[in-house]
Amino acid sequence: MRNPAFYRREYEGINLCKGCFRSSIERKVRRTINEWKMLEPQDHIAIAVSGGKDSVTLLTILSKLSSRFPSTRLTAVTVDEGISGYREEAVALASMYARSLGVQHQTITFEELYGQSLDDFLRTKQGERLTACSYCGVWRRKAINLLAKKVGATKIATAHNLDDIVQTFLLNLLEGDTERFVRFSPVLRDPRGFFMPRIKPLCQIPEREVALYGFTNGLEFQSASCPYMTEALRNELRSIVNRLETAHPGIMNSAYRSMIRLRNLAEPTLPPQPLQQCQACGEPSTLSLCEACKMVGVTVSPTGGLP
Ligand code: SF4
Repeated sequence: MRNPAFYRREYEGINLCKGCFRSSIERKVRRTINEWKMLEPQDHIAIAVSGGKDSVTLLTILSKLSSRFPSTRLTAVTVDEGISGYREEAVALASMYARSLGVQHQTITFEELYGQSLDDFLRTKQGERLTACSYCGVWRRKAINLLAKKVGATKIATAHNLDDIVQTFLLNLLEGDTERFVRFSPVLRDPRGFFMPRIKPLCQIPEREVALYGFTNGLEFQSASCPYMTEALRNELRSIVNRLETAHPGIMNSAYRSMIRLRNLAEPTLPPQPLQQCQACGEPSTLSLCEACKMVGVTVSPTGGLP
């Protein structure tokens, strides 16, 4: 470190200047990509960019790293759910950063895909048991898959950071979803070809370092929070894990390593997920209709076809 200390990384016990901090983040992402063989030279990566800090940082880092691999293509893909007063700013930021980095940008809306915005859909669902995020998460995942296919991508990159991953791990554990619990991987591939591989290059970067990386690069992020954000249990876990990390630096890294060990132990015994094509839209599904089609209200006749 030649310049004044800018950041103390407690979990490694080191001080870093701005330049060293930025390089350390890029190095970590590169290491994760190599370790999990996330990229191949001819890949076309669809980067899911919402306009938030994680996805804008992912776009910035991948565009920097990809300059060394001229045959790798990047496209930023954004889903506009139709959340008034929230999504407009994020879509504008995603578009601005993609343009400034020379990366193509494509957007898809819930209205185009499902015939209605999330706002309109939720107005018809008042008083129902499922939260806005349950509908939105399923529809958004499908929207990203469809848009990635449309642009001709070979992989989808999402911006899940270390905090997201540890929280999801604990959520699955506490909710008894052992299947998901042991199936976690920074790369999801399906040798049968039902879905496009998904990669998580930021999976070892803590959330605060993602934000700091963005800050040191002068990146501007979306300021408003989603008005529907209600994930109560995840929020509680977030504050518990943050408290533990402050008191015992490195605890999130240990949790991540445990997840990988568990996954490696369980993998040889796990049968592949039973997947088929949704009878309505052709997307991968564990049942004859995918969750997204069910939520839109598509039904299947007793003979198995669409009514
Ligand atoms: Fe969708 Fe929930 Fe995220 Fe809002 S907080 S964008 S409703 S998943």
